[in-house]
Amino acid sequence: MTEKKQPIARCLTCGTPYYSLAPVIDGCVTQTVSGRCDGEVVIRWNNDDWIICPHCDGSGCPHCDDIGWLPARP
Ligand SMILES: [Zn+2]
Ligand SMILES: [Zn+2]
Repeated sequence: MTEKKQPIARCLTCGTPYYSLAPVIDGCVTQTVSGRCDGEVVIRWNNDDWIICPHCDGSGCPHCDDIGWLPARP
């Protein structure tokens, strides 16, 4: 099982994880049905910010949206 990389930031509006800090400054760029999300992206780079998905052990599955990690807090 290959553990996916832990995200370092996350959108508070749509929950999209990010692996770079650019969206923290620029806002969420995820496209939604109503256009760009533009939500606030916050840094979540501490080990206790994420819990490895218990369903796939971090390899990605529908439960974690193929991220491998679940947010430990909103
Ligand atoms: Zn978003
Ligand atoms: Zn999973």
